[in-house]
Amino acid sequence: MSLDVALIRQQFPILSRQVNGQPLVYLDNAATTQKPQAVIDALVDYYSQCNANVHRGAHYLSDEATKRYEKARVTVANYINAQRSEEVIWTSGTTEAINLVANGAAQRLTAGDEVLITEMEHHANLITWQQACKRSGASLKIVPIHNNGELNLEAFHELLSERTVIVAMPHVSNALGTINPVKQLTEAAKAKGALVMIDGAQGVAHGAIDVRDIGCDFYAFSGHKLFGPTGIGVLWGRYDVLADWPVWLVGGEMIASVTYEDASWGELPNRLEAGTPNIAGVIGLAAAVEWLQAYDRADIWAHEQALLTRATELAEQTPGLKIIGTAANKIGVLSFVIDGMHPADIGFILDKQGVAIRTGDHCAQPLMKRLNVPGTARASFTIYNSMDDVEALFKAIDKARKMLA
Ligand code: PLP
Repeated sequence: MSLDVALIRQQFPILSRQVNGQPLVYLDNAATTQKPQAVIDALVDYYSQCNANVHRGAHYLSDEATKRYEKARVTVANYINAQRSEEVIWTSGTTEAINLVANGAAQRLTAGDEVLITEMEHHANLITWQQACKRSGASLKIVPIHNNGELNLEAFHELLSERTVIVAMPHVSNALGTINPVKQLTEAAKAKGALVMIDGAQGVAHGAIDVRDIGCDFYAFSGHKLFGPTGIGVLWGRYDVLADWPVWLVGGEMIASVTYEDASWGELPNRLEAGTPNIAGVIGLAAAVEWLQAYDRADIWAHEQALLTRATELAEQTPGLKIIGTAANKIGVLSFVIDGMHPADIGFILDKQGVAIRTGDHCAQPLMKRLNVPGTARASFTIYNSMDDVEALFKAIDKARKMLA
């Protein structure tokens, strides 16, 4: 069955607004997705009916808020096929989740240890490990990519060794759309005894995620790229790994007992969740997951791939346009440059026509340097985008080309 995109669009109030006097064509979904009414309603309902702190109040509202908050943990755990809901740690987003892992790792890494990342990292998964290595004396090894944006698998296997303590890699590249064979790479890394952390910021919204099937130790993602609120994200980790992972943030909620001299840490998930959490965000994220689960993953995938195929066809017919990232296995991301046009100018002219894309280095400066581009223009597609959006994108690109010719 195919998706009824018109019906899906009706659930996103923002999609019917105008920008710059034009109907909005929102193609910046890799940066953040729009929110369906179901998520907006869940946030309003929480604040208007149930606002209270969790796990501490001895009153009705606190009890209800705690129940909703912990039910959300189960919803998200089931969504990624976690074995236990305690394996889901709430963070502010992917960035904080990776920091939690890298800061913990930095306390254990020593000189001679190696951390493997890739050339296609978002800064969130690059600087974190770079700094963890600097602090600990471990070496950062970087797996190169091919010119088409695919990971060099041969190099990955060559760089992987008994010295590799952690492999940290993106499920999907935000700048190029490349989907990495994370299950296969995880298997190889585990055979060498390494821990595996996957940056799932771009992976989570496009296909079914099964953390047990992948076999990794950590999987990080953000709610706002999954139709949920900003400021909420998830670090999933295998129970036995998380249970004694060094704590990073300390404070209320995460302790077992405290004296003036010392403190001991509580059980999972609390030990890694210091302070009052983003309760509304958690509830909003669960609403987003429930909303998304009403649609068949295969239908979503087929729809996004159809949009990408059409966009790629039109891109190939556009004089002077070069697609950056042509991996065989990609999500609906079209990154491109056009001869003689700076990406920022393309973005500016498209915006005037109501078409929202992202331009720049996509938080991947070393990758842009590796690909020898100043940055790219990037259109990214999701469940609510239509073929009309793709046509509007290329109509706007044609206009930009004529204006800047
Ligand atoms: N990793 C990847 C691949 C991303 O695309 C992003 C955001 O674009 C991040 C990490 C960081 O996500 P956040 O800013 O939500 O923490």
